[in-house]
Amino acid sequence: MLTQVADGVLIHESEFCQSNAVVVQGGAGVLLIDAGVHEDEMSCLVSDLSELGHTVVAGFSTHPHWDHLLWHAGLGAAPRYGTARCAATAGDRLSGGVDAVAKAAGIPEEVSLDLLGLITGLPAETTQIPWHGTGIRIIEHHAHAPGHAALLIEERGVLVAGDMLSDVLIPMLDLNGIGDPIEEYLTALRLLEDVAGDVDVVVPGHGSVGRADQVRARIDQDRAYVLALRDGTDPSDPRIGPSAKPGWEWVSDVHAGQVQRLLRN
Ligand SMILES: [Zn+2]
Repeated sequence: MLTQVADGVLIHESEFCQSNAVVVQGGAGVLLIDAGVHEDEMSCLVSDLSELGHTVVAGFSTHPHWDHLLWHAGLGAAPRYGTARCAATAGDRLSGGVDAVAKAAGIPEEVSLDLLGLITGLPAETTQIPWHGTGIRIIEHHAHAPGHAALLIEERGVLVAGDMLSDVLIPMLDLNGIGDPIEEYLTALRLLEDVAGDVDVVVPGHGSVGRADQVRARIDQDRAYVLALRDGTDPSDPRIGPSAKPGWEWVSDVHAGQVQRLLRN
């Protein structure tokens, strides 16, 4: 089921970790950001789009994690973009074969991997999605994953945040990168803060859509968590511990794992 979150912007929510696929209406068709996860859900999205008479003219993956790199044959053969670094990382990780990645990443068996990761990297200096539709600014940074990008749908006031600014997931740092993961995350949050005044709706990769009053609150909440990680203090974050939403208790384990990894670094 498609839900409108702003004029010309709709989301399709997955049962897998409350993932949000985002549909942006353009002149000649729609842009589809992070298409979805389960086969039946993407089939549902295909029929929802066809009922509305929409053709997918472009795709975009916010970052090179498997749940953001999937596609369905029924969505057609439009170009699927990501940042250059996202595409390169996805290519590297998949070079050993899809099955090896699926096993290592623990991808559920019912997920179809046929079209996983077939994305085209946009040249590094690209600041807008190349399509015949409303302007969409690419805000690239290195916080959650290499080549991670948030997208600002400028005239609609929508920020598609990728795996940041979630009400259920804490900041998950890229602890395998070459840079300082804490500093990179703080820099990314500053980039999002720079555009926050233009945002009426924030769509996280996983979790609930937030309205204007939530944008800065979520940035602040993510920053407080990252600073607590840096300083080795208790984050007292509602997304972990007893206040975590039912079904999201595992996020506390992610937190514990991050604390351990940073102690070892
Ligand atoms: Zn991710």
